[in-house]
Order: sequence, then C-alpha cells, then structure tokens
Amino acid sequence: MISIQGKGVSTGVAIGPLYFYQRAKSTIRRYEVEDEQAEWNRFKDAQAKAVEQLGELAEKARAEAGDEAALLFETHQLMAEDLDYEEAIQGLIQDDKLNAEAAVTDTAAQFAEMFAAMDDAYMQARAADVKDVSSRIISILTGVVQGGIDSPVPIILAADDLAPSETVQLDKSKILGFVTEGGSGSSHTAILARTMGIPAIIGVGDQLKPEYEGREVIVDGSTGNVVVDADEATRTRLLAKQEEQRKMREMLEQLKGKPNETKDGQSIRVYCNIGGPDDVHAVLSNDGGGIGLFRSEFLYLNCDDYPSEDYQFEAYKQVLSDMDGKEVVIRTLDIGADKQIGYFNLPAEENPAMGNRALRICLNRPEVFHTQIRALYRASAFGKLGIMFPMVTSVWEVKEAKKMCERVKAELTAEGIPFAEDVEIGIMIETPAAAVMSDRLAREVDFFSCGTNDLTQYTLACDRQNADLGRFYNPHHPAVLRLLKMVCDNAHKQGIWVGICGELGADLELTETFLSIGIDELSVSPRSVLPLRQKIRETDVSAVREKVLGDLLSDENAL
Ligand code: PEP
Ligand code: MG
Repeated sequence: MISIQGKGVSTGVAIGPLYFYQRAKSTIRRYEVEDEQAEWNRFKDAQAKAVEQLGELAEKARAEAGDEAALLFETHQLMAEDLDYEEAIQGLIQDDKLNAEAAVTDTAAQFAEMFAAMDDAYMQARAADVKDVSSRIISILTGVVQGGIDSPVPIILAADDLAPSETVQLDKSKILGFVTEGGSGSSHTAILARTMGIPAIIGVGDQLKPEYEGREVIVDGSTGNVVVDADEATRTRLLAKQEEQRKMREMLEQLKGKPNETKDGQSIRVYCNIGGPDDVHAVLSNDGGGIGLFRSEFLYLNCDDYPSEDYQFEAYKQVLSDMDGKEVVIRTLDIGADKQIGYFNLPAEENPAMGNRALRICLNRPEVFHTQIRALYRASAFGKLGIMFPMVTSVWEVKEAKKMCERVKAELTAEGIPFAEDVEIGIMIETPAAAVMSDRLAREVDFFSCGTNDLTQYTLACDRQNADLGRFYNPHHPAVLRLLKMVCDNAHKQGIWVGICGELGADLELTETFLSIGIDELSVSPRSVLPLRQKIRETDVSAVREKVLGDLLSDENAL
C-alpha cells in the first residue's frame, strides 16, 4: 500500500482506477510571416471562435454546476478579448512579424508570469486562466484538439494541473475524483470540483508515479490522503466513511425547505456568509435563508484601483436581485490587519490588528466611504438590504457613519435616484468595547451581528492569525460567551435582533448555547447551513436552557 499526502480541496471519498489525463501535445512552430495583416486576421478569427466556444462552455457549466461555474467561462471570454492582451499579440504579429501561434504563446507566458508574481493569491491563480484561454486560441490556430479521457469505466483522474476549461469539458460520468500535482485551493478547478461535488486533492507533487496508472486508488478529500493499492483494513475503513458520507448527504438533502425550528418550537434564522456575487449560487443551493455577511472588501481586494460607485452598485445589485427579496446584509469595507490593499497606500503599522482598519478607515477617508454608501443605497432598490459597519468601539463612530447614510439618502432624493426606505442599519459586535457598550449602541441601530473571530481575538488578546497560540485562542472561553449573552440581552431589551456571523456560528457544540441565550440569526458558510439546521431541529431548548445558562456562570467553566 502506498499512502500519499496532498491537500484536500473538495470533500468526499472516491475509489477507482487511476488514470493520467491525456493532454494533446503540439509543438508551436515559430516563423516570420510575410503578410502581417493576413496573420492578424487569422488571429482575430481564432479569437472570435474561442469566444464562441467559451460561450458554449459557459452554458454547459451553467447546466452542470450552476451560475458560479458559468461565470468562470464568461470571465475567460473577457480575458480572450482583453485589450492589453490583444495589443501585446498585435505588437508581436504586426511589428515583429511573428506568426499568430507563437505570438499568443509568448503573450500568454508574459501575462502568466505577471499574474504569478503578484502578492495576492487570487491574482496568482489567474495565471492558470490566461494560459487556459491562450491554449484554446492556439489549438484553434493549429487545428490540434484538446485532450480527454479514453476509458470505458469511471476513473480517478490524475494530472499535473487541470485548467478550468479542461475540467468542465471532461465527461463527469467518468470521473470519481481528481488528484493534481500542483494547483491551489482557490483555483477555479478546485472551485468547480467543490461545486460539482467531486472529491479533489491537489499538491501531491511528484509522489504520484506514472507506473501507478490503472491501479486502484482511494482519495479522501477531507484529509487530502491518496492511497494506492490499499490494504484490506484501510479499504474497509474508507469505504465505510464513503457510505457514511453518502447517507449523511442524503439525509441533509431532505432538510431543504424545512424550517430552522427546535423541537419545542423556537425558530432561528440561518443565513450565509459570502465574499461576492459568485457565492450566491451556493447560498441558494444550500437553502440559506438570506445573507448575513457579505464581506464587501473582497470586491476591493479583487481590483487594482478603488472600485467605482457603478462597479460596486452592479455587484451589490446582482446579489440583491439573485437573492430575490431575501435579506442581504452587506458589511462596509473591512480592510486593514490581515487584509491589506496596496492602492490604499496605508502606512505600515506596528500592530495592524489594533490599527487603522475597517470603519476607522472609512471615517478617516469619507470620500471612499461615500462611494460605497451611495452604491449600497442605489442597490437597495433591488432587494432587501441591510448595511453593517465593522470594528465599532464607540457610539460616536456609529453616529458619524449614520450621518453618511443620511447625506447619501438626501443626495439620491435630490438626484431622483430610487432607493429603499427600509434599509436596516446594523453594526458588528467584535470588540469588547462594543459588547460592553451594547446597551447604548442598541439605541442607534436596527441589529447587531457578533463577529466572534475578532471578538475572541480582542477579548482574549490572542492574535487570530497566529497558529502557535493554539489553545490560548479559545472561542468557547466563558469570557467570550458571557459577552455574547450580554449583547443578546441588551439587543432584546432595546427590541433589535442579534446574530452571529463569525465562524463560531457554525460550531454545533454551541448551537444549544446560542438558542438558549436567544440569538436570532446565525450566518455561516453555505455548506454549514444544512448540518446546522439538523442540529437546531434536534434541540429541545426548554430542556437545556437552564443548564446552559448555569454553565455560563459556573465556577467550573471559569477555570
Ligand atoms: C469576525 O470577526 O468574526 C467576522 C465575521 O469578520 P472577519 O472574519 O471578516 O474579520
Ligand atoms: Mg471581523
């Protein structure tokens, strides 16, 4: 038995024969052309054909894996016609008289290198996209067709790396799992594997040898382990795990459409956390009741300059429209600390987690804040919007932020631009100061959402980024839980709702606690919605409340 360790990026256990992806190899010829204009036209024809093919792939992806997967190919269409990319190719053909295949190859290498050198992991992963788009144009130019699977039975597919277009073109009925040498968890291939529910492991390097082809492998996407020729005990153990997961999935599927209601009839809203419009598909397919946290800073992180009001408006509007009247809480820009953006030109800080971040930046840079608040209010006409401010410590900050909302509403009214009158304004409770002042803060807003990732960090003075702090960073610490109870009581005294949008919301060990203290909403990653619903439906709050509340104050738990 050979055991190989990689990184699991899509969960599930799969078993089958190993098959190495056959990629059509073509050598790119380089030569000097005589008629540059004819060569340029040849490129433009191939480019148009590629855009057409990508459109067809987008439709195929939409049918198989939803809008998020389709968007990837729509982005590839834009990339194929990107002006900088096209100009670079044009220069090589028209100025250097290079043939089109070679010009596309050189440009792809140059752009991929540029993306790979960027600091941001998301941008680095775009190197694979530009190569993918370019190889499509090259295969159209050379007439060489792309690779595929030639196997009569379903297989575990191994490859050095898989381009997204290769992934979507594969015959899914033949693929039980993916294993790749390279790749990143945020690559689109990993995203597609997750959306299609196929177990996938990346980054196994050169451990997977060509001589293993055809031998039986078992991949475990939750542990990242690949086993070739498993011994009987391992095989039995992994098959049992596979069966358990199948049953679990089946059972969770049946919970779709059911209420998040405890045995004794207490309801709680289960919403989702998202990073952008692409994630809405996952919210809807997991039956999320709304969006409790849209981390808007990802829009800023994906741009290389300040995103304009229109750009933001389109993104917010898309999420609100796609959610079709379900509530969407959009958090205003939360950068600083671990999320730095070059074009903000923020001075380096000794202690960025306690520095200029989130609402502080917005209040210090009103022009940036103003653009976002305008985009948000314009988008409010397209759904049910909540606006939430992060990293609040004082009442005056909230008052100042609300003034910006009033200013924007007055401007939009004067300009005749429609917006919703019922936009809820809320704040994140993620500093001890905000928790302690929550009685007073509750008078200013319509809701609270507890950011337990930061609330734990600041309450316990424990850097959430520092893996070495291990047991010291403990979100179950009674100090954190007591603060949550206090916030909840203060919110309810003032008649406003309170949610949790930090990772703790999905922690099933605390579901009874959250129900007992009366949390109104839990916002979690889309995949956590159904397991959480199951836990809620199994709970009898009246039977556990007294013990749970007693435990919060008990000496034993204060140790
Ligand atoms: C939190 O702090 O719990 C939170 C939800 O915000 P973020 O993780 O984006 O800081
Ligand atoms: Mg936070």
